[in-house]
Amino acid sequence: MSRVLEIALPVPVPGTFDYLPPEGEQADDGWLRTRVLVPLGRRRLVGVVLGVREASVDPGQLRRAERRLDDQPLLTPELVDSLSWAARYYQHPVGEVFAAALPAALRHADTRLPARETLALTDAGHAALAAKSPRAGSAPRGLLEALAAGPLDAEDLIERQPRGRAALRSLRERGLVASVAAEPARPRPAGVAGPTLNAEQRQAVDTVSAALDGFHVFLLDGVTGSGKTEVYLALIERVLAAGRQALVLVPEIGLTPQALARYRSRLGVPVAATHSGLADGERARSWLDAGAGRAPVLLGTRSAVLAPLARPGLIVVDEEHDASYKQQDGFRYHARDFAAVRARALGIPLVLGSATPALESLANARAGRYTALRLAQRAGAASAPQVRVVDLRRQRLVEGLSAPLLGAIGDTVARGEQALVFRNRRGFAPLLLCHACGWHARCPRCETPLTLHRAIARLRCHHCGHAEREPATCPDCDEAQLLALGAGTERLEVALNEQFPGTPVSRIDRDTTRGRAAREQRFAALEREGPAILVGTQMLAKGHDLPNLTLAAIVDADGGLFSADFRGAERLAQLVIQVAGRAGRGARPGTVLLQTHHPEHPLLRRLLEGGYHAFADDELQQREAMGLPPFGHLALLRAEAKSRDTVDTFLAAARRAFGTQQGVVLRGPLPAPMPRRAGFVRAQLLLESPQRGALQAALTPWIAAIHALPDARRVRWSIDVDPIDLA
Ligand code: ADP
Ligand code: ZN
Ligand code: ZN
Repeated sequence: MSRVLEIALPVPVPGTFDYLPPEGEQADDGWLRTRVLVPLGRRRLVGVVLGVREASVDPGQLRRAERRLDDQPLLTPELVDSLSWAARYYQHPVGEVFAAALPAALRHADTRLPARETLALTDAGHAALAAKSPRAGSAPRGLLEALAAGPLDAEDLIERQPRGRAALRSLRERGLVASVAAEPARPRPAGVAGPTLNAEQRQAVDTVSAALDGFHVFLLDGVTGSGKTEVYLALIERVLAAGRQALVLVPEIGLTPQALARYRSRLGVPVAATHSGLADGERARSWLDAGAGRAPVLLGTRSAVLAPLARPGLIVVDEEHDASYKQQDGFRYHARDFAAVRARALGIPLVLGSATPALESLANARAGRYTALRLAQRAGAASAPQVRVVDLRRQRLVEGLSAPLLGAIGDTVARGEQALVFRNRRGFAPLLLCHACGWHARCPRCETPLTLHRAIARLRCHHCGHAEREPATCPDCDEAQLLALGAGTERLEVALNEQFPGTPVSRIDRDTTRGRAAREQRFAALEREGPAILVGTQMLAKGHDLPNLTLAAIVDADGGLFSADFRGAERLAQLVIQVAGRAGRGARPGTVLLQTHHPEHPLLRRLLEGGYHAFADDELQQREAMGLPPFGHLALLRAEAKSRDTVDTFLAAARRAFGTQQGVVLRGPLPAPMPRRAGFVRAQLLLESPQRGALQAALTPWIAAIHALPDARRVRWSIDVDPIDLA
């Protein structure tokens, strides 16, 4: 009998593919969990060997693998099992799941990882250090000090300082630092000691520490600034002392160089990083280091949860409520949920941390499946901020900013402190309108309004990327006066500069932080001490620790109050609390101003009077009454095509293929919340069930049937299990 290789290939069809080993080689267990290069049709693809077994068909019909790419398995047995589980649970082709788990640099055959470079001080560097130059507190000085203890890996060094790359370039040019052949110094300097934990933090650390030897989920439910990160660090130290690894997940925008620097300096061990700001080669290196056990700590955004761990000890998911943990295309997994699956398989604890836990996590804690650990006090000297509502009705507004808000900003900067102005909308104005004829700028492909970006004189679609020049006159009636309605962050920046000449205004949104250099520069500006006004989107709401920031303002709370999405209220509540959490983290107390036309809205009242948990109680009751998550379970079949008929025909066929299933309700076809996008017509079917098991049982045969539908090849379709929104 001949044995064959069972291979997961990155193609959008379910199941694995069987191949014979290359001519003259045996298919033995040495192939397991390695990458192989195989022919498929006229292409050559990189796959992962999931199994080696007896051929079930005539081996004469099988093609041969071309060659094996790794001497050692790249994935651990646990990771193969967990990913296989995820492929079934999320109803996604297994080959694409494995491809998603591999870092991009490992998805092709000719991977050349960047060589590690080790850097050391030159004689001139030692002399400069002794002569106290460059000046204390500067980034180049910080790098010299880090190198004083011995040679370091270049990437590792760069990430220790905001703007480390630029600082290193200048040190090299001045001949103070040079590349050496030596290995980086190990053991590295011992970690810097952290603050003494307070009683609540100690209690949390003790509780988790007593459970390090098995699977358990802890919900570290701690107000912003309560010192959750200190709890993670203390736990990671224990895990490291036991010779094991920690995996730490942070939200997409939360992983700033500052956050990484904090983990690196505190833990005193190499911390491998993976996030979208890193080059492919660096990400691959972190992934491989985690799998080989060379990295004691892996810190990364969503996809870090797909990395292999050689000596796992602990998984931490910081800001676990954050929407960036859900992958929104392709393999639509939820990193928090998958972290729980892996922790169970690995027999290790999972710590979920947040000041505003997801309702799913709160429900799990209340049901006793997770252990809740509370941190009710802000750590150190900081106290909780005061929240004030500004009633916008009948107020005179300057670009959406009320007099009380402008007054509060003025008082704040006059005291030498900083203010944050939050607006969830980038660009200059969300609408460009002709006052003479009613024309407004619309995306030709989405039929939704285009956003005006005045600084670059362009209109942009935030849904599909369509862009065009800002018209000088109305394209329909030639009227010369076009009105820019509403204010995005760009316009607020202009307005704030006019209102507060002499105070630096810094805007942080996707437009001002494109590219690594711009991003590092913007975030470094946040570290500035003196009076300043920060204006920005979501990006500003997360994780930053700005001790001199004492005022946070939410320009418009109304969008979230009347959201069509069932998670709209939860998102708004989280946003308010998180933005509030940016204010008053240092010794001075903070204030939060919230502008709304609906000061009496019950959601706002509940949130402001009772806090996040009171809000969550109400919201959970409503979700339960409506059978929505976390009480009901959802799956969404989305479809889009150029013509409505094609979409309708497909969804009708999918509906027929579903038939009726015990305990599962199918709704639709329904138009998508955005019925047109990028020139495609979009519609969907929604599945609901009170039982996860019933939903899964119905999904598996249904998705297989959909793959076989001829109509399925004429549309773009996808299945989203546990969707976080229905858009
Ligand atoms: P969180 O992650 O909950 O937002 P952090 O861990 O970032 O909070 O802590 C917020 C701030 O409080 C940080 O500046 C941190 O150094 C400080 N801090 C945390 N724990 C303590 C403590 N026990 N004593 C003094 N300061 C602390
Ligand atoms: Zn007009
Ligand atoms: Zn568009």
